[in-house]
Amino acid sequence: MSPHGAVGPIEPLAAESVRHWDDEADVVVVGLGCAGTSAAITAAESGADVLALERAGAPGGTSALSGGLIYLGGGTPVQEACGFPDTPENMERFLLAACGPGADADKVHRYCADSVDHFHWLVDHGVPFSPTFNDEPNREPFDDAGLVFSGGEDSWPFTEIAEPAARGHHPRFPDTAGGFLMECLAGALGRTDARVIGDTTAVRLVSDRDGAVAGAVVRADGAERVVRARRGAVLAAGGFVFNEAMLEHYCPTVLQTYEAWRIGQPNDDGRGIRLGQGAGGALRRMHVFECALPLGPPHRMARALLVNRDGRRFVNEDTYTGRIGHQALVDQGGEVYMIVSEEIFEVNFVGMRVAWAAETVEELARDIGLPEAGLAATVARYNDAATRGKDPEWHKAPDFLVPLRAPFGAVDLRVASKTIYAPFTLGGLATDIDGRVLTEHGEPVGGLFAAGRTTAGIAAGGYVSGISLGDGTFFGRRAGAAATRTAP
Ligand SMILES: Cc1cc2nc3c(=O)[nH]c(=O)nc-3n(C[C@H](O)[C@H](O)[C@H](O)COP(=O)(O)OP(=O)(O)OC[C@H]3O[C@@H](n4cnc5c(N)ncnc54)[C@H](O)[C@@H]3O)c2cc1C
Repeated sequence: MSPHGAVGPIEPLAAESVRHWDDEADVVVVGLGCAGTSAAITAAESGADVLALERAGAPGGTSALSGGLIYLGGGTPVQEACGFPDTPENMERFLLAACGPGADADKVHRYCADSVDHFHWLVDHGVPFSPTFNDEPNREPFDDAGLVFSGGEDSWPFTEIAEPAARGHHPRFPDTAGGFLMECLAGALGRTDARVIGDTTAVRLVSDRDGAVAGAVVRADGAERVVRARRGAVLAAGGFVFNEAMLEHYCPTVLQTYEAWRIGQPNDDGRGIRLGQGAGGALRRMHVFECALPLGPPHRMARALLVNRDGRRFVNEDTYTGRIGHQALVDQGGEVYMIVSEEIFEVNFVGMRVAWAAETVEELARDIGLPEAGLAATVARYNDAATRGKDPEWHKAPDFLVPLRAPFGAVDLRVASKTIYAPFTLGGLATDIDGRVLTEHGEPVGGLFAAGRTTAGIAAGGYVSGISLGDGTFFGRRAGAAATRTAP
C-alpha cells in the first residue's frame, strides 16, 4: 500500500493564464492557527485589506488542540511577579543551546530581544496570564497558573550555560489552554476588518512571469476560485506529521512511533510547505522533529533511572521531556526502560505501569532481557552517587537522587511497545526574520511569506515546550507586517 500523502513541490499556476480573479485582497493568509491568525491580525491592524482563509470550518488548527504554553522571557511581568529574573541575553544563551544544534541564530536573537514586547502584544490582544508559578514542569499546569519551567532550564547541562528561568507562559485557563488561546486570538481577528472565510483550501499558488506570488487557487464547496494577493500571500498551514509520504522521505524515524501519539491533526499534511516549494521556496531542516516521552507529572518520577538496551543510563532523568524523548528515540533507537523501586514508583498522568518486578536487579535484568552485569553495575554506581547526593555521570539535581532499593520494577518504554513517543515536525520553508520565504540562494520569493510549522522556525536539533506557539505568533506577526509593507 502506498503511504498516505505526496512529496514534492506543487507547481504554481501562471498568472497570465488567469482570465478573471474571483476575489482579491492586499494580503491573503492561508491557514488560521496561531501563526496565520497573528499574521492576519497584524496585517489588518496595519491597514491592509486582508482575506484570511481556513480549510476547517473555523480558526484553530493544531494550535487549538495544544497545551497553550507560549515560550516568553527576557523579563516579562509574569516572570518578575514569580521571582524569576531574566534578560534577553540569558534567554538567548539558553535557547541557542536547547534548540540546537543548528538553531537559527538570527531568529533566536530577534525572538529574545522582542519577547517582552510580544508578551504585551498577546495581552493587548486578549490573552490573559496569571502572575503565578506552578512547579510541575514541562506540561501545561492543571490549574490556571501563568508560568512553568518548560524546557529543562533548571537541569544539566543548561544550568551551566544560562541562569535558570521559567519561561513557559500559560494563558489564564485551567489545564490545556490551546483552545482558549485560539478563542482569544480569533476574537482579536474578528475585531479587525479582515474577512475570515472557512471551509476553503488553498490548492495552488499563482505566480507571475518574474516568479513573484500573485495569488492562490482555492477550493470551496467543490469549486475552484482564483484569489489575487495584491501585496503578498502568507502560508501558515501547519507542518507535515500527518503526511506519511513526506515523513518517509524526510524523517522516517517518526514512522516508528505509534500513529495515535503523533502531535497534530490531519490538515498537518505539508501542503503549505509544498505550495511554497513550488513557488521557489527552499526547504530547511526537514529531518528535524520534536518527540516528547512524558515521564511526569509528577516530576518526582525523575527519581527513576532511564537505561538503554545495554543497561546504561543515557540522559539526566530530571531534564525536559522532549529532550528525553528525542534522545530515547533517535540516539537509543527507541529501546529504553525506566528502572524504579517500589518506594519511588507512581503511576504518572499518562498511566505508565510497571511491566516487570523482581527482588534483585539481576533478576529484573534477566526478565527484561538486559545484560545482568551491566544493569547491576549501573544501579550500584547510581546508588553510590545518590547516597553522596551528587551524580557525576549525568548531573541529575540532588532533589531527585534517591538510592533504588528492592523490590525493583521496570516500565517498558520501547517505541515498539506503543509507548507514548509524541512527535511533530519542525522543518519547513526557509524564511528570514520577517517571514519572507527564501530561495536556495537566500533571495526572497516575491510576494511570499510564511510562519509557524510551515517554516523551519527557531527549534532545530532540540526543542522547548512553548516555542511553537511562541515562534508561530511572533513570526506570524512579522510576516503579516512585512506582507503589508510590500508594494502592490
Ligand atoms: C496535544 C498538543 C499539545 C501541544 N502543546 C503545545 C504547547 O503547549 N506549546 C507549543 O508551543 N506548542 C504545542 N504544541 C504544538 C503546536 O500546537 C503547533 O506546533 C502549533 O500550534 C502550530 O501552529 P501553526 O499556526 O503553524 O499551525 P496550525 O495551528 O495547525 O494552523 C494551521 C492551519 O492551517 C489550516 N490549513 C492547512 N492546510 C491548509 C490549506 N491548504 N488551505 C487553508 N488552510 C489550511 C489548518 O486547518 C490549520 O487550521 C502542541 C500540539 C499538540 C497537538
